[in-house]
Amino acid sequence: MAKLRVEMKIGKVVMELPDTKTIRLMWPEDYEMDFLTGQFITLYWPHKQKYKRAYSLSSCALDRGHFEVTVKRDGKMGTSIVDWAEEGDTMWVIEPTGKFLPVYEPPGKHLICIAGGSGVTPFRAYVREATRRKLETDITILYSARTTEDIIFNEEFRELEKENPRFKFRVTCTRLDEDDPWDGRRGRIDAAWVQEQIGDLADTVFYSCGPNPLIKFSEELVLEGLGVDKKQMIVEKWG
Ligand SMILES: Cc1cc2nc3c(=O)[nH]c(=O)nc-3n(C[C@H](O)[C@H](O)[C@H](O)COP(=O)(O)OP(=O)(O)OC[C@H]3O[C@@H](n4cnc5c(N)ncnc54)[C@H](O)[C@@H]3O)c2cc1C
Repeated sequence: MAKLRVEMKIGKVVMELPDTKTIRLMWPEDYEMDFLTGQFITLYWPHKQKYKRAYSLSSCALDRGHFEVTVKRDGKMGTSIVDWAEEGDTMWVIEPTGKFLPVYEPPGKHLICIAGGSGVTPFRAYVREATRRKLETDITILYSARTTEDIIFNEEFRELEKENPRFKFRVTCTRLDEDDPWDGRRGRIDAAWVQEQIGDLADTVFYSCGPNPLIKFSEELVLEGLGVDKKQMIVEKWG
């Protein structure tokens, strides 16, 4: 069935980083929507109706009354949202769709989510839902950032880690000065680091989303580097 397009006003706007912004799109009165955590919406401006772009929901299916997306300043749409979108603006929204979904059933799965930059957006939704529902699902996010200043959702993830003993937010920084006081991991995500996170491989599902080069890198690492079966990896390419 064709998805509906709905006019929504932008509510709260948060600059997560100097180049990354979360916008909240407010559902109109009496609007209700069943969707799944991990899906994406498509957005466009009323004055540029032919130019539509997809954005993963960074809010989860339990967040009602609005959708949130987290956008990096990149390309035409990414730049227009980060630089211009503000509270009170109207955007058109094509309702959620997509199959980049967390495997919460049966309980006992371990989701290993490989992310860099804004590719972490849907994983915020995964962890929010698992935490609020107190699910028996382990989630580990392996996040690559240039420096400690480039970690999206750092505070929220640290809070969620305290609340949910099954969630781990592991960060590696790739471009820190040598004398930086960061005592966490440095360097790129590699097969050894991913391997360290795996308990029972049979119950593990790997995820990666973001620009195509990141997906290629993650697939090589997991499928070729670790010899994991393709059925145990779910990816979403942003183009
Ligand atoms: C399912 C899905 C989910 C997505 N979720 C998110 C999300 O959560 N957050 C997010 O930020 N993005 C997300 N994206 C990407 C998003 O849809 C846009 O593609 C992105 O914001 C860039 O905007 P644009 O397509 O208008 O860029 P375009 O203007 O079409 O540019 C596309 C790319 O080309 C590069 N480019 C443009 N012009 C030049 C040039 N002259 N020289 C060199 N390079 C150039 C741009 O930097 C950009 O990387 C998602 C995409 C998909 C398919």
